[in-house]
Amino acid sequence: MNQSLATQLSELPGTGVESPLVVNEHSTQWTDKFDVIVVGLGAAGVSAAIEAADRGMRVGAIDRFTGGGTTARSGSVLYAGGGTSLQKKLGVEDSADAMFRYLQTEVQAAVKPETLQKFCTDSPANFDWVTANGVRYSGKLFPSKTSYPVHGNSLYFSGNEIACADLAKPAPRGHLADGIKRFTAFGPAFVGPLLKSAHKKGVIPLLQTQVTRLLVNDRGDVVGVEAKQIPASGRAGFLHRLYSTLANYAQIYYAPAAKGLRQKVEQLERQFGRTVRYRAKGGVVLANGGFILNKDMTEKYLPKYRRAMRLGTTGDTGSGIALGVSVGGVAERLGTATAWRFINPPADWPKSALVDTQGQRYVNESLYGATIGTKMMEDHNGECILILDDVLFKKSVANLNLDNARFVTWLQAKGALRLAKHADTLEALAQRCKIDPVRLQQTIADYNAAARGEKPDALGKKTEDMHELKQAPFHAINLSVGKGDITSVITLGGLRVCEKTGAVLKETGAPIRGLFAAGRTAIGVASNAYISGLSIADGVFSGRRAGQYAALCAELPQEHNQPAHTATPGAAQAAGCPFAH
Ligand SMILES: Cc1cc2nc3c(=O)[nH]c(=O)nc-3n(C[C@H](O)[C@H](O)[C@H](O)COP(=O)(O)OP(=O)(O)OC[C@H]3O[C@@H](n4cnc5c(N)ncnc54)[C@H](O)[C@@H]3O)c2cc1C
Repeated sequence: MNQSLATQLSELPGTGVESPLVVNEHSTQWTDKFDVIVVGLGAAGVSAAIEAADRGMRVGAIDRFTGGGTTARSGSVLYAGGGTSLQKKLGVEDSADAMFRYLQTEVQAAVKPETLQKFCTDSPANFDWVTANGVRYSGKLFPSKTSYPVHGNSLYFSGNEIACADLAKPAPRGHLADGIKRFTAFGPAFVGPLLKSAHKKGVIPLLQTQVTRLLVNDRGDVVGVEAKQIPASGRAGFLHRLYSTLANYAQIYYAPAAKGLRQKVEQLERQFGRTVRYRAKGGVVLANGGFILNKDMTEKYLPKYRRAMRLGTTGDTGSGIALGVSVGGVAERLGTATAWRFINPPADWPKSALVDTQGQRYVNESLYGATIGTKMMEDHNGECILILDDVLFKKSVANLNLDNARFVTWLQAKGALRLAKHADTLEALAQRCKIDPVRLQQTIADYNAAARGEKPDALGKKTEDMHELKQAPFHAINLSVGKGDITSVITLGGLRVCEKTGAVLKETGAPIRGLFAAGRTAIGVASNAYISGLSIADGVFSGRRAGQYAALCAELPQEHNQPAHTATPGAAQAAGCPFAH
């Protein structure tokens, strides 16, 4: 399923995207004309917009809502390394090579090795670019492993670096922006300053404007977009902002309420959206996010994740992916998602044995929560039961506090501890939890042998990360999907793009003229697996790349009646611009 792809609009139901319209770019009545149009103002879109504006372009930045997207509801972690200024300031040694060797295990074939190498080599400069555009990091280093550090920390181990120490020297690379909300751990801490910077740099925001189709010339080159725009002033504009904001909060706190609010948003768009057409001289950058809130697409491509909580905002309908496919692009890895099942804090839980109802361990419990969650949803029916002995259980109760856990995490862990089941023997515990008792006893016997150092652990867990489970009574904490505690999911698939330029590619591998994609709309560094911060980092990397090349294409001399990127190659060709060949 991971490699599932789509090349036809009909294979992407529920996006609301229409087939492209062929126009004459010279006689069309354009609402406005830009060098570069960016669709979507999350991490990827705002990076593309700033990059193009920095190159002197007139940039129109379209967003269906008020900008920020899912990035504004995220934990604002940016994965960066190779010696960033924050790493240096906090005394952390890192190198692009160590970052690359570790990330290879996460990224695998999602992008070419040379692209990943560039992502790592560019990482310190991209981090400086982010801070130059206003994002702040003033906290400390959180030295041990956690799923999300408490307030006052700006740098932590946000992936599997420690567990992969044999491959590369571990370094903390999760850069956490100042200003994240204390209670929820979500907010616009990262994207907010970038949006302000874009505004200062002259990027023209076209908000409450939903792109519904691409406009192409008679050669199939993308020359602009058509969108439905809600007048910002007036009752419809106000209600659209209100319902969409409420829907995004509801999606995180009480998802059933979000559906009705989204329907109201769509109703307003149908009723009050007026058609606008914007011309893009250099290119359109699709940065519309992923598709986790498109039920039709997730049912089709991600059925195993059905019971997980959809983490996203109203714009996550896959419209960017569909826009690309509508003009000949290819959508890949639509069956790839990341599910998050964090079990740390409390720091003692990863020392337990995590089993499914077969009584089988299936993952090294010391790994990152998305590595655990994705395995759990992909291959183990969403089952995740922690087995602890009495020593470990009591330690986890004693060690869980608000100094090492954020409030929401603390609350969830407290709840899970309260619902734990207990028994004097493993066999009785298995029966209480409907786990295969014979298999469970064997699993724990093997686990204990590895914990004593008598044999290596079959799942590669290090002895120091294990605890021998021998002291009765035994305890089971059920963290399976749908069991109170939350397992959430986001999508990772997107449009196939040229890894040098971000141009959207056809099935033949040729670029579609005038069209770029970035962030979760595109295949990128985060399209195989997620570790905290990788999606936003990919948004900056791929967004800047797309903004740069769209700007380059706008700068190319225009031949009579030719789109910019078919003209003389020059600098663009030297830089590898796909349209300059
Ligand atoms: C709760 C939560 C926490 C997370 N924490 C982190 C984290 O700490 N670090 C990390 O790396 N990742 C995190 N993620 C994942 C990450 O936030 C997203 O994968 C990433 O922000 C996507 O960025 P993007 O720019 O591709 O899309 P978005 O940020 O979603 O931006 C897309 C924009 O496109 C707009 N749009 C959509 N369709 C249209 C259309 N047709 N016309 C016009 N505009 C349109 C949307 O309104 C939106 O503003 C988290 C996700 C969630 C939900």
